[in-house]
Amino acid sequence: MALIACSECGRAVSDKATVCIGCGAPLTTSSPIDLVPKRSKAPPPTREQIKRRALLSLSILALGLIWAEVLEHRPGGRLALFMAALLIIVGLCWFMVVLIHALSSRR
Ligand SMILES: [Zn+2]
Repeated sequence: MALIACSECGRAVSDKATVCIGCGAPLTTSSPIDLVPKRSKAPPPTREQIKRRALLSLSILALGLIWAEVLEHRPGGRLALFMAALLIIVGLCWFMVVLIHALSSRR
């Protein structure tokens, strides 16, 4: 029986287990070789891909900001406000992820 690292929490769990005992994440790995994160196998995104993703995330962020601005003058209820806030948060988070990817792939 070998121990493998959970891809979610990093805890060492049996390779016979189907879910992580620490966080409950499903374990799809079956050999100790998979200790290496799967993400490193994927080719880094090209500059064009990064640019397109950054643009898309920023437009989501802008849409949320515009929506919030419109709602300030014409209140549209809690749901609309929540959606606007959600757009801003998602756009911002996504943009940060793209930014981190862009910086880490520049090595
Ligand atoms: Zn886990």
